[in-house]
Parts: sequence; C-alpha cells; structure tokens
Amino acid sequence: MQMEQLVALCKRRGFLFQSSEIYGGLNGFWDYGPLGVLLKRNVKDAWWNDMVMAHNELVVPSGAPSTYEMTGLDCTIIMHPQIWKCSGHYDLFHDYMVDCRETKKRYRYDHVLGRFVNRAGGRTPGIFVTTLETGNTQAALDEAALKFFGLRKKDLETLQWEGGIRSISTLGKDFSNVLGPDAKTHGTLTEPREFNLMFKTVIGALGSDEDASFLRPETAQGIFANFKNVCDSTRVRVPFGIAQVGKSFRNEITPRNFTFRSREFEQMEIEFFCHPSQSAQWYTYWRDRRFAWYTEMGLAGERLRMREHDADEMSHYSCGTADIEYQFPFLPPGEFGELEGIAHRGDFDLRSHMEGKLVKEGDGLVVERLPNGQPKHRGSGKDLTYYDDLTKERFVPHVIEPSAGADRATLAFLCEAYQVDTAPDEKGQPQERVSLKFHPRLAPIKAAVFPLVKKDGMPEIASEIYGELKKHFSVFYDDKSAVGRRYRRQDEIGTPFCITVDGQTVQDGTVTIRDRDTLKQERVSRDELVKELGQRLG
Ligand code: ATP
Repeated sequence: MQMEQLVALCKRRGFLFQSSEIYGGLNGFWDYGPLGVLLKRNVKDAWWNDMVMAHNELVVPSGAPSTYEMTGLDCTIIMHPQIWKCSGHYDLFHDYMVDCRETKKRYRYDHVLGRFVNRAGGRTPGIFVTTLETGNTQAALDEAALKFFGLRKKDLETLQWEGGIRSISTLGKDFSNVLGPDAKTHGTLTEPREFNLMFKTVIGALGSDEDASFLRPETAQGIFANFKNVCDSTRVRVPFGIAQVGKSFRNEITPRNFTFRSREFEQMEIEFFCHPSQSAQWYTYWRDRRFAWYTEMGLAGERLRMREHDADEMSHYSCGTADIEYQFPFLPPGEFGELEGIAHRGDFDLRSHMEGKLVKEGDGLVVERLPNGQPKHRGSGKDLTYYDDLTKERFVPHVIEPSAGADRATLAFLCEAYQVDTAPDEKGQPQERVSLKFHPRLAPIKAAVFPLVKKDGMPEIASEIYGELKKHFSVFYDDKSAVGRRYRRQDEIGTPFCITVDGQTVQDGTVTIRDRDTLKQERVSRDELVKELGQRLG
C-alpha cells in the first residue's frame, strides 16, 4: 500500500485533517474528522475496557503471577513544575540542534560526526568534514572530503587526516571550518540552539518566569503524583495498576510521517505497582499481555513485532524495556516504528517524587546534589511508601509501565486495514475495491441500513430499522445512488455490515445482511437484527 493513498482516503472520507488547514496548516498537529473521532474513540475504549473495566480482579489471568486490581485516573495537563524537575524531564528533555544555512537541514548537535582533513601541503588546521553515518563513518568522511576538494577516489592517499573522529559538540562554538553533512561550502552551520521538547506556558495573568509551567509530555507523572491519593481513598492493594488516557505535548523537532510523530497526541498509559520481588514476573506478564492486545485487535503477522532493548539502550533506572513495533508503510523496508514501550522502572518514580531527582551512582540511585550539597531538584518529601498490613512490610513498590500512543495505534490500525481487492459490481463484473478491514470493535460505523429503492414502502421500513439499531450501535442510513455504490462507500470506511431492505422485506419481514469481508449476504428477520449484529460484532 502506498501511504499517499491512505492519506488521501483519510482526508476524502473525513478520518484526518491537517490542523488549521484553512490557514495553511500547522506542522505536527492533526484533527480527527467525523469518522476519525469514532475510530480513535473505539481504540481508546477498547484499551480502557480490556485493561480496566473488563479486568476481573478475582481471577489470575493467564501468565500473571497473581490476581491484581485495575483502576483509573484523569489528571490535569498542567501540573506543578516541580513534577517535571524531579521526573528528570526538565533536565533531560532538551536537545541541542544546529541548522545548515546552505542545505536548510537541521541536525542533532551530538549526532554530527567529523574529522579534520587537509590536502597534501594544505593549510592547517584544515576542514572538519562531517557525516551522520555511524556505521562506516570513516568511509563516509573519505567520500565527503574527496567531494569537497574535487578529488577522485584514486587521490584518497593524498588526504591528510588529523586527530580522531568526534562529534561537533567537542569543537566549541566556532564552526567556520566545519563542512556540514551534504553541504558544498564550509561555515554554514549555525551555533547550537536548545530545543526544549516541553511546551512552556505561564500560569496567571501577570505570570513571570517563576510562574512558568509545562504542558505534560506524558500522562504517567500525574499517576505517580496521585499514588498516595489512590491508596488512601480506595481499598486497592499492591499489586494494582492505574490507567490513564489523555493528551500529551512534545515540541518535536521534526514532526513527520502523518500522525506518527505529532506535537500534540494522546497516550494510553498504565503504571502498575508491585512488590520488588515480583516485578520481573510482572514485567514479562505486561509485555506479553500488551503484545497480545494488538494481535486481538487485528495487527497480527510479520508487520508487528516485539523488540527487547539492549542493556545500553535502557534508561538508567530500567531493568527491562521492550517496544511493540509496527512496520509502517512510510518507513524504509525492514524498519519498524514504536507503538508502545513497556518498561520495568523499578522504584525510580516514587522515590524521585519523595526524595528529589535521582541519578545513577554505582549500582544504585542517589539524589542529585548541587556543589553546596543541596538536592538539585527537591522532592515532595511526602511518604510514598506502601504498607502491606497482611505481611506487615513497608516498601517502595516497583513500577511496570506499558505506555502506548492512541494516535500511533489508530494509524497502525488504519494502515493494516487498508486493502485493495476485487469484488463484483451490481452487474456481476469484477471491479477493484478499496476497503478498510477494521476489527468490528474498531470500525467507526458498525452497520449501514439501505432501502434497495426509494419506493414501495422500503424507505419507511429501513428508517424504522435504522431507528431501532441506532439505540445500540453506531449506524448509518443511506438511500442515495445505486445500492452497489452504497456498498462500496461503506467498504471504503470499514463498515463491517450492510443491511438492505428489499421487496421481500415488505412480504416477510426479513432483510439481507452483507459481510464486508466475505461479501456473503444472508437473510435475517428484522426482529433478530439487534441480537444478530451484537453477536457478529463480538
Ligand atoms: P519515540 O522514540 O518514537 O519518540 P518515545 O520512546 O519517546 O517515542 P515514549 O516516551 O515511550 O515514546 O512514549 C510512549 C508512547 O507515546 C510511544 O510509544 C508512542 O506511541 C507515543 N508517542 C510518543 N511521542 C509521540 C509523538 N510525538 N507523536 C505521537 N505519539 C507519540
């Protein structure tokens, strides 16, 4: 499937629009249209239902070490700024970037690698040629240097390299001798600038910088900040999870790939609190449970994979991290994009909010301190330990965090659902057909109701049926154009079933129900429709 086709369909049929389109759009922001809002809501509802509402805390789920409880929260987007200082986002969530005035490209400062080079007998210190290549960096630098000096491959020997390969972040601020990746002339890189990925905002009409806060870059911190409230106000016992769905904001440097990397997006996160002695087993349980959820919702096959992080990829507090990834069609062949990360976060989060921002020291975590001995970012000082009144043990629970993106999941379901096949038209001729083969739980419209023709009492019966079904399902009524075209229009938006009122309905009260995927039509009594659709939708 070509991504452009899906993007065009999303616009044409009202799944996704560029935000502020009438003013030329706003990079990294997307609006969900009339069908998109239904689809995304179904994704979030399926997640919430399967993780929270339908979870039975009396039964040990397959693969889980024990029973557990699930509960939910809905926290504010703007929180006390100290939350982001203790969580580490304030210090870590920024990148330094350089722009190239010649190529107009923007690079992560520490990702640009290079080495000083000169032609035989050339001036010192030469030119610092650069590349982003991390595989065979020297080969890429050879190529860049030959190109810059206008030399051929056979002249490679005449190049004089000085010093080792290093990042431009080691050069200080003078980039006059630096040749940017892909640039023809040197000295075109700007000074590094800080891009804070957190959106800053000011609280109150007369707000000064002291009143600055941030739009949350993740929903997780609201859960940690309310851990004690949840324990004190409910009868939940460890192990238990708190789920939250909500907006997050990141001032991404290069938003791209449709909604995949947006600046405003929605997350579906669980923070699962457990005893440290069981956290490794819970990590495995959640990793597998979340992977299974995507397959249950229709993302099976080789486009979905689970990838465990190597030790050097993991955050300093994590004892295990896995990503659930999908092979989005906009990525180069063989590349996968993250849908969800599942991380074993140890006691990092609760301790940070008790003690202050933590850093790694040896094998443990200690409060980061200023030269005067004061904590760099002071914690709340509140007791966030958990007391188990059965075992009489007090401890800081470990956290397992399955963190998913609602927009990325929605996009993956759209990509997976998009299919082109052939189906006979009303004259029995095979025609190319575009359909979105959504799982029935995710389909924005569950069934469409048609009168075969606009006469002979059919519209009256069809509108009655429509009214009955509407009390139970998201349904759509259509009496315009030939019935074959109406089927196509529903296939294209992923409606699993079409119900048609025809001449026979008038006689015996039966209607046809057509399946989007098998194209089979069966006759069903109109009185049985609510039950029948309920069963088919699962
Ligand atoms: P990436 O490496 O792709 O930037 P991340 O590892 O920073 O993602 P997390 O911080 O783990 O992402 O966030 C959890 C989930 O939130 C991601 O798996 C993704 O589904 C979603 N997410 C994160 N950033 C974005 C974004 N800019 N746009 C849309 N969804 C996002």
